[in-house]
Amino acid sequence: MTSHIAFIGLGNMGGPMAHNLLDNDFKVTVFDLNTAAVKQLTEQGAQTADSAVNAVQDADVVVTMLPNGDIVKSVYGGNKGLIKAVNKNTLLIDCSTIAAEDAREVNALAKAAGIGMLDAPVSGGTAAAEAGTLTFICGGEAADFEAAKQVLSAMGRHIFHAGEAGAGQVAKICNNMLLAIHMIGTSEALNMGVAQGLDPEVLSEIMKASSGNNWSLQVYNPYPGVMPNVPASRDYQGGFMVELMNKDLGLAQKLAAQSKAATPLGAISAQLYQIHQNQGGSGLDFSSILRFIQNK
Ligand code: NAD
Repeated sequence: MTSHIAFIGLGNMGGPMAHNLLDNDFKVTVFDLNTAAVKQLTEQGAQTADSAVNAVQDADVVVTMLPNGDIVKSVYGGNKGLIKAVNKNTLLIDCSTIAAEDAREVNALAKAAGIGMLDAPVSGGTAAAEAGTLTFICGGEAADFEAAKQVLSAMGRHIFHAGEAGAGQVAKICNNMLLAIHMIGTSEALNMGVAQGLDPEVLSEIMKASSGNNWSLQVYNPYPGVMPNVPASRDYQGGFMVELMNKDLGLAQKLAAQSKAATPLGAISAQLYQIHQNQGGSGLDFSSILRFIQNK
């Protein structure tokens, strides 16, 4: 029975995920470079440590939720990394979205040290992280996947085994390329309808009941004021930052090139998000692509 979890990376996603582990009565030790994020979790009942390496001492499971592959590799690898610091029977679960090749590299290091590891990127956004309804998309060995289920089900509703190491990241990147495409399309349609005098809320209801329905319309409407509690209704603050979507679209283009798969809409989406980022959108939620389309 897993009892002690070390959680590293307490940002928009990791913070609420760690909170749900506490709510499910796990002992949780947290670490983040951002002391304000750590303080929030300790106020919720977590233990803390002065480094990631100290946080994982005696942990049954380590969960990481970090911004990108270079950071994940530096946190796990090297002489001062987590792989060298944990017990042999600790299970490592990296929930960050990173390149499949980076995930395979870190997984191989863990395997060489006799330690089980999964890549387990998530889908669902911050609302699902808060509600404990994330989708986990895992890559790694079947036995490690089975062992991870208890912890993952405290943070998520759907838990998939996509295949071997790196497969979780491949599936996640396919999903996020599609997410960018339907967020851009949804923004274009809403902007055009409003320019013709339609009410964005009425237009959204019509499209939700029609063939244009999609996740961005259903739970993450990009038009300000249509939905409460989404980033569009709080000036695109919080949520899933443009720079993170850009990272994912870059990973998608690399995967497309490696596999000789044609992804013309993925390529255009990557360009649109890159221009949006260059023009100052970097820290906004990715649904702010509507504002970019409006040229505001
Ligand atoms: P974030 O930037 O809000 O959080 C990342 C956290 O990692 C920060 O608190 C940062 O201080 C911490 N960190 C960075 N380097 C560290 C280190 N060396 N040691 C300890 N802590 C460190 O990002 P987020 O939105 O929480 O996203 C995290 C990951 O989840 C990313 O890979 C992202 O692509 C993915 N993701 C995000 C969403 C979303 O909606 N935000 C959805 C699905 C997946």
